[in-house]
Amino acid sequence: MIHPDTTIKNINPIIGNGVFALKDIPKGTIIVARDTYDLVINENEFLKLDPVLKNSMETYMYRDKNKNFVLSWDHAKYMNHSCCSNTMMTDYDLEIAVRDIKAGEEITTEYGILNIVESYEIYCGCKNCRKILKTDDLKTYGDIWDQTIKESLLLINTVAQPLITVLSKESKKRIEELLKNPELYSSVKNLSLN
Ligand SMILES: [Zn+2]
Repeated sequence: MIHPDTTIKNINPIIGNGVFALKDIPKGTIIVARDTYDLVINENEFLKLDPVLKNSMETYMYRDKNKNFVLSWDHAKYMNHSCCSNTMMTDYDLEIAVRDIKAGEEITTEYGILNIVESYEIYCGCKNCRKILKTDDLKTYGDIWDQTIKESLLLINTVAQPLITVLSKESKKRIEELLKNPELYSSVKNLSLN
């Protein structure tokens, strides 16, 4: 589920919806925690879906490291991509704020970590926009993203965490271990399907 201090807003007819912060949210805050009510469809099942349903759902889904297609049950699924996103997916079943987010700011994520099915053009407005989202971006940029993500994860116990209780026991344990020993950090490259 997504952080309670967020809401969905329609941006414009081209972009459609986006997610916005209702309050200031500091770096290190868990923005989305994977929970047991997210819809999880394995790859084979997903590929067998009616094409109309499949294409429509795919827009709002990401793929986890087990090749499952995951659809968040709440407005987490409306987060748009930015090449300079303020949140990022991690290998801890959560998305984390990688910088301070101001009230009213759009909350964005890095689709390059979410195992997109095919490459496509994007114009996110970021001055470092990559222009094309590629299926192998995680391999190319994973090391850079890891630095930002690790730094943010290590702040977890220093900021308010409304979603901490939603995390699975395993995720909580892995985070506790990470906080004790940062060397144990698990790279986002571990989310890669290849
Ligand atoms: Zn971009």
